[in-house]
This record gives sequence, C-alpha cells and structure tokens, in this order.
Amino acid sequence: MTFLPIVLAAGLGWLFFSFVEYGMHRYAFHERPGRNWGSRQHLIHHAQRDLVMSKFWLTWSLTILLSVFVLRPAATALFSPVVGWAFAGGAGGGFFVYEYFHTVTHWRAPRTAYGRFVRRHHLHHHFASPMANHGFTTPLWDVVLGTYEPVDRVVIPRRMAPRWMVDDDGDLLDRWCHTYELRGRKATAQERATTDPGEGDLADAFANLAPS
Ligand SMILES: [Zn+2]
Ligand SMILES: [Zn+2]
Repeated sequence: MTFLPIVLAAGLGWLFFSFVEYGMHRYAFHERPGRNWGSRQHLIHHAQRDLVMSKFWLTWSLTILLSVFVLRPAATALFSPVVGWAFAGGAGGGFFVYEYFHTVTHWRAPRTAYGRFVRRHHLHHHFASPMANHGFTTPLWDVVLGTYEPVDRVVIPRRMAPRWMVDDDGDLLDRWCHTYELRGRKATAQERATTDPGEGDLADAFANLAPS
C-alpha cells in the first residue's frame, strides 16, 4: 500500500481547515461583528491584553466531533476509510497546530522564523488592521482573497503589548525594536492585574477598529 494517498488526503484536510479558519475569522467573526457567539468571543479576544483560554475546551470538543463524525465519513464515502481518517486527521490536526501557535503568539517570544512571521502577521491584524490578515497559520487565503497586508513593523499600544516583548517597566525589549514599536501610555496597575477588557477597547474591537 502506498502512502501517497494518505499524505495527499492529510494535506487536503489541512488545506480545508486553513480555509475554514480564514473564512470563519473573516466572514463570521469580523464581517458580522457581535452577531454570533464566535464573533463575540473573538472580538473580546481583540480587546484583551492577554489571551484567555476559558472556553477553548468547547472549540476543541467541536473540532474533534466534526472531524471524526462529519469529515471522516464524508471522505470515507468518496474514497476509502484510510483516506477518511487521513483527511479528518489533517483537518483536526490543522486546528490543533493553529491553537498552539495562536496561544504561544500571545504568550511567549518566537523561537523560529515561522514563529516570527505569524506574530508579525497576527499582531498587525490585532493592533493595526483588523480587516486584513485574517489567516493565522498561513497567509494563503489572504493573498488569494485580497486581504493580505505585508508587514515590516507593527505599532502596538504600549498598554496592550504582549508581556514577552516588554520588560518589567513595560518598555520594549531591545531585541524587538526592528519589528515592533510601542506608542502611548503604559498599562496601569489595575489593567495589569485583570484580564477583563476595558469598555473603550471593547467598543473599538466590536467596530473592527484597531485599539486607540
Ligand atoms: Zn490573537
Ligand atoms: Zn480577528
């Protein structure tokens, strides 16, 4: 038995996931702001300084159920049981890769060129241009569908800067000066102590505006 169909099916599963990731983020979350549960959760994420993972168990469970009980039988019916598992594995695996990189993007400094790229791409979406760069794991669908903005440098409100890029005083670490720039005031002690977003940041996020 050749592994080629398995590899191809897993790759197609990942491609399918990357389109779903882009499509949900753009069309459901940002283009229908606040009109569905996913959009509300996502726009609250835009307004928060830190990534909060309290509801992630729900998306993980849904992804496993959809992969095993919808995608797998569909690909099995079209091809074979092995291809069905490979397609579902590629799609579900793509989601877990996305979840991992999205989480570490907000939580820790990059360790690879890909890590540096996804942080620039995604933090530009967060802090400069919420209607661009919707794809997270790949810019492919942004390029294909016209929402790609190449990024050299990302300007971030100092009070919302991810903790990995600042020192204890909230100033940008030297090693990030070529890629990131901070503007405005530092986070107050109260803002640092909470994960709740401020009213103004929520209003900006739900209007698809970068935080002011
Ligand atoms: Zn994010
Ligand atoms: Zn977004």
